[in-house]
Amino acid sequence: MPKKIVATDIHPIFKGSLGKKEKELILKQKGLVIWFTGLSGSGKSTIAKALEHKFYENKFLTQILDGDNLRIGINKNLGFSEEDRLENIRRSAETAKTFLDCGIITICSFISPLNIYRDLAKEIIGEHNFFQVFIHAPFEVCEERDVKGLYQKARRGEIKNFTGLDAPFETPNNPNLVIHTHLSPLEKCVEDLYNELITRIYYP
Ligand code: ADP
Repeated sequence: MPKKIVATDIHPIFKGSLGKKEKELILKQKGLVIWFTGLSGSGKSTIAKALEHKFYENKFLTQILDGDNLRIGINKNLGFSEEDRLENIRRSAETAKTFLDCGIITICSFISPLNIYRDLAKEIIGEHNFFQVFIHAPFEVCEERDVKGLYQKARRGEIKNFTGLDAPFETPNNPNLVIHTHLSPLEKCVEDLYNELITRIYYP
């Protein structure tokens, strides 16, 4: 589990600060965290980028948070042990929440292979603002795609704790949506996702 807060005499300032509602009014959109979970190579980053363009065309403000990108910055001291993966998700979800509180549609692309990680993210962000999408393609398809050459490396034993190979990937318990990237072309996946999301982000 995440480490306990060790600092004392902390006094967070909430009173008098502008909230999500006021900021949504400026942006004319509802903030939402869209949380992609799926194997490496399942299509999370590709769909995140295409979805962001679709939102942009329709004048919605978004921010992508990508696992690899955060691992070269805020999470660069973390590896792939269970404890580090949990901390990776905790920090990422807290970061997503900051964007959410600004009314921004935040597209999060993290393998987040276990239900405890997804549940932690949901708990931090709040169920009401959390939309979980299982970006799914069978393991063999992801391995065949091997976009970053990671599957080959993992097969050669050069990467340990590789999700789907020697580290587990649990099927998500209750995703809001499942996108099968091996069955539909990218454009259709993005269209389906966008149509599902529009009522949630639309500001009346
Ligand atoms: P991840 O971010 O999950 O590791 P990537 O987005 O980097 O995965 O890679 C997914 C690969 O699968 C890309 O090469 C992409 O072109 C390909 N692909 C094929 N069909 C789809 C689809 N319907 N949706 C997303 N990606 C797809």
